[in-house]
Amino acid sequence: MASEPRVGVIGLGRMGWPMAANLRRAGVELTVYDLDGDRVAAFAAEHGGSPARQPSDFASCAIVLTMLPDGYAVAEAVRSWEGGLLDVLAPGSTVLDMSSSSPSGTIELFEEARTHDLDVVDAPVSGGVPRATDATLSIMVGADDASFAKVESTLQKLGKSIFRTGPVGSGHAMKALNNVIAASTYAAVAEAIEVGRAYSLDPKTLIDVVNESTGRSFVSEVVFGQHVVPGTYATGFALGLLAKDAGIAADMASNLGIDAPVLELVAERWSEALASAGFAADHSRAHTAWW
Ligand code: NAD
Repeated sequence: MASEPRVGVIGLGRMGWPMAANLRRAGVELTVYDLDGDRVAAFAAEHGGSPARQPSDFASCAIVLTMLPDGYAVAEAVRSWEGGLLDVLAPGSTVLDMSSSSPSGTIELFEEARTHDLDVVDAPVSGGVPRATDATLSIMVGADDASFAKVESTLQKLGKSIFRTGPVGSGHAMKALNNVIAASTYAAVAEAIEVGRAYSLDPKTLIDVVNESTGRSFVSEVVFGQHVVPGTYATGFALGLLAKDAGIAADMASNLGIDAPVLELVAERWSEALASAGFAADHSRAHTAWW
């Protein structure tokens, strides 16, 4: 069997940490970096992996996986961090952006990377921290066949369902659309609970009924059933990240000239929640910002 290429991981947050840990468990050699140096040291102590101090530390990585808050942070890490990665990676290497980034920024980065004989593949994920930990993520990959072949083995160590969505950027487009559906559902369920409350319907009863009825969804079952109703608010997915995804989807509609008033309103509602509850609040708390 050909030996696995060394993988660089930039971003050891809630998602990046368990994903990198799964690569280590599968025997992949890693070079790791995060703006938070304590996380890098803690990861290296717990799982192994060589901490990076500057971009040139990634020179031997055939793949550099980014798991960062958004495409701006990816561009910062790839282009601006001490001169950036583009000049130091070996020709043919791939930046594998698994963050939920904006597709237009991804395409710009891809075009720039091509001038350095480098590849960019977008492979955002769904499933949250539990499925990042179990290596059962759903992964949406924007890449042509040759680019996909270079990252497939890495992706197989992280997820269960790997979807090829089309050319570069399409994975990020798919992810934003998935998440705006979740953000819309959350807003609708939260409004139904408020209306129900005013009608003296108990929120727990309402969610129990919905979860056995046609209004059921991941949001009603997990986000409301396991986090909002019991008041634990610990999904591990920040409110600012979902607000960003809703904004990306609304921008896509606007850039494509699609009339999408619901997506626009949902993006606006989440941006209001962000202004009131703050970026780091658990996204399941958004309803507390609205009423
Ligand atoms: P997080 O905030 O927990 O982690 C982000 C990490 O990136 C942090 O450790 C931070 O220090 C680091 N970082 C930020 N800017 C950096 C830079 N320029 N260089 C190096 N490191 C930098 O976020 P997360 O929850 O792990 O989410 C990561 C991505 O995955 C986001 O795009 C998010 O939308 C997406 N996502 C998250 C979930 C979830 O449930 N948390 C689920 C699916 C997708």
